[in-house]
Amino acid sequence: MAYTVSKLKDYSQATLDKAAEKLLAALEKEAAEVKSDSDWKAFRDRWMARKNGLLAQVNDLWLKPAPKEAKRDVGQRVNELKQRVEQTIESALQGLQSGASVSRLESERLDITLPGIHRPIGAEHPIIKTMNEVVAVFRDLGYSVQEGPEIETDYYNFEALNFPPNHPARDMQDTLFIANQQAKPQREQLVLRTHTSPVQIRTMEKMKPPIRIVIPGKVYRNDPPDASHSPVFHQIEGLAVDTKITFGDLKGTLDHAMKAFFGSSVKTSFRPSFFPFTEPSAELMVSCFICGGSGRRGSDPCRPCKQTGWIEILGCGMVDPNVFQFVKENGYDSEKVSGFAFGMGADRIALLKYEVDDLQLFFQNDVRLLRQFA
Ligand SMILES: [Zn+2]
Repeated sequence: MAYTVSKLKDYSQATLDKAAEKLLAALEKEAAEVKSDSDWKAFRDRWMARKNGLLAQVNDLWLKPAPKEAKRDVGQRVNELKQRVEQTIESALQGLQSGASVSRLESERLDITLPGIHRPIGAEHPIIKTMNEVVAVFRDLGYSVQEGPEIETDYYNFEALNFPPNHPARDMQDTLFIANQQAKPQREQLVLRTHTSPVQIRTMEKMKPPIRIVIPGKVYRNDPPDASHSPVFHQIEGLAVDTKITFGDLKGTLDHAMKAFFGSSVKTSFRPSFFPFTEPSAELMVSCFICGGSGRRGSDPCRPCKQTGWIEILGCGMVDPNVFQFVKENGYDSEKVSGFAFGMGADRIALLKYEVDDLQLFFQNDVRLLRQFA
């Protein structure tokens, strides 16, 4: 049964001692039962409430009716009891708080002996790896890396690269056009860039000659995906412009780059070709680095070089003077400077290098395949 304060039958020392003892015993017992904040509030209110709290009752039932001669003694005892009650309530609160911090420590405990969570380290995708390797070869030759937008205007993608409007060479590229551009003048109409070449013009607009740059990036064409085509693929282009740059510089640079990339034993060969923005233009072949140029692998025909012993790697040529016309004000006077440009498909080189026979495998992102090249 819960403790209640009752009237004192007399004011003898013995009666006062006994009543105080009973009260303190109840106080301790109730304090020990405080387990939560709401317990503690109820405990505090039961004892301390101004109106009808147990201490208020002690005041009303013990002190007020005390005869005059006992008042002083009873008043002192009541004060002592009040202090004990306040202390007990205070320490019950502290007990709760330290208990809470112990349980918080317990719940937030960190077991530093547990083995860590294994997070496999990522690796470069074979296409990105190939691009980085090619870029590194040219960086060693003093070339800097330039990038540009993948959504490009007709002007940068075609016109400034010597593809005038209606030029038949535009049919060579199945361009992906951005919708609803018909209201704009043709040169401002937007396309997904079909090559990284627009970055050549953009760079020559902002940098005066001499320049030596490589341009890695994504390009887009309306090619349905198959073993050797993808609507999104990757190119790396290069451009060098300076005074007195000759076709010999082009050949020497690319011969060095191919040996640095495929191995010093490869041979290079150039054969005439056509690109609107270079004149003369050439295709660069390297001797097959898979069969060593023999066209055979043991008793089997070498597929990557189609048994010819040569693999076509890139297109190149001397920058057409018409291209320099578009950046003439920035110091590209074709009477004073000359240059060469080259471009290659990073995806194709990665296919050859890693002997993968389906380009789509590179885009399906099956880690079981990709892990092999990490
Ligand atoms: Zn071969």
